[in-house]
Amino acid sequence: MAHTFQTDDVRLAPIAAKVQAGERLTEEDALALYASPDVLAIGWMANFVREKRHGNKTFFNVNRHINPTNVCVAACRLCAFGRKKDSAGAYTMALEEAWQAAASGYTEAVTEFHIVGGLHPDLPFEYFLDLIAGLKQRFPQVHLKAFTMVEVAFLAKRAKLSIRQTLEKLKLAGVDSLPGGGAEIFADRVRSIICDHKIDGAEWLETARTAHQLGLRSNATMLYGHIENDEDRVDHLLKLRALQDETGGFQTFIPLAFHPDNTPLRHLSKTTGMLDIKNIAIGRLVLDNFSHIKAYWQMLTPKIAQIALRFGADDLDGTVIEEKIYHDAGATTPQGLRRSELERLIREAGREPLERDTMYHPVIRNETSFTVSV
Ligand code: SF4
Repeated sequence: MAHTFQTDDVRLAPIAAKVQAGERLTEEDALALYASPDVLAIGWMANFVREKRHGNKTFFNVNRHINPTNVCVAACRLCAFGRKKDSAGAYTMALEEAWQAAASGYTEAVTEFHIVGGLHPDLPFEYFLDLIAGLKQRFPQVHLKAFTMVEVAFLAKRAKLSIRQTLEKLKLAGVDSLPGGGAEIFADRVRSIICDHKIDGAEWLETARTAHQLGLRSNATMLYGHIENDEDRVDHLLKLRALQDETGGFQTFIPLAFHPDNTPLRHLSKTTGMLDIKNIAIGRLVLDNFSHIKAYWQMLTPKIAQIALRFGADDLDGTVIEEKIYHDAGATTPQGLRRSELERLIREAGREPLERDTMYHPVIRNETSFTVSV
């Protein structure tokens, strides 16, 4: 560590002592971090933890997003992606189309398909089981990270199955792990405004708990920069930390910057760089039982994500071919980055790029194929 810790903020010195001693931060500590404007001091602490865990290593993967449908019965105010069945722009891929989309237009072999979509009122559960089984059959070497806790709960309801039975069937069809979306902010007050049609925070956590019990790892997200306050963010982090203590099933925490364009909340301002960096750093400090903190470049922009690698983040996500959800909400980032571009961002931040698979095993490549070291 080249720099020594410095701050004029008296609230931060005792927190820095705890961080250096490896002690768990309290709710009050987390609130003090959010209240402090000293982003360099907060970043110093987060970087201390990040380097202690991972040194200079920075992870990324080569992945493709597949969004099988944007038709959705929910009408979350945070969303620019979902459409009613008969609205302009609504689409649902036929199975063959989804399998073709998985295979098309990219020369580097992907190691992961990230599959999420809307809550379609008519598609039967079998469509999703067939989608997954067909992908597994065609791309047996590719990890299938599919369906948020919200989608799982919706599919369970449609199929009249329990969450556990639904997850068991998805796992049997070929789902390897779950993404972390749909968590938004757990606080009921906020959820009732931004996504009142979704499962509540307790149901999201219970679905994640069941997935972890079945051996399915998942990620966890937090959507910030809308109507939530510091207490809501801290409450969200502490609930994730408590579940992780219990199951150990979360891999990565991903703070997601809210993009208001084309949503009913379009009157809200976009997040600032300061808020983006603080959420990465505070996530790293509070979630002491999470291995990885991801700076998701699609939402943060590659520039902010790169800086985040010095403020607690150790993962940049992946090449993300054909991202739709945040681009419908006005994201101006490219829809995909080449592997070489991700490596450049990481190297320029003074870090060491390490291609991983979804489970963080190193990936070793030649021109057209890859092997995973386990
Ligand atoms: S956020 Fe998800 S559940 Fe809500 S409207 Fe959009 S697609 Fe549907």
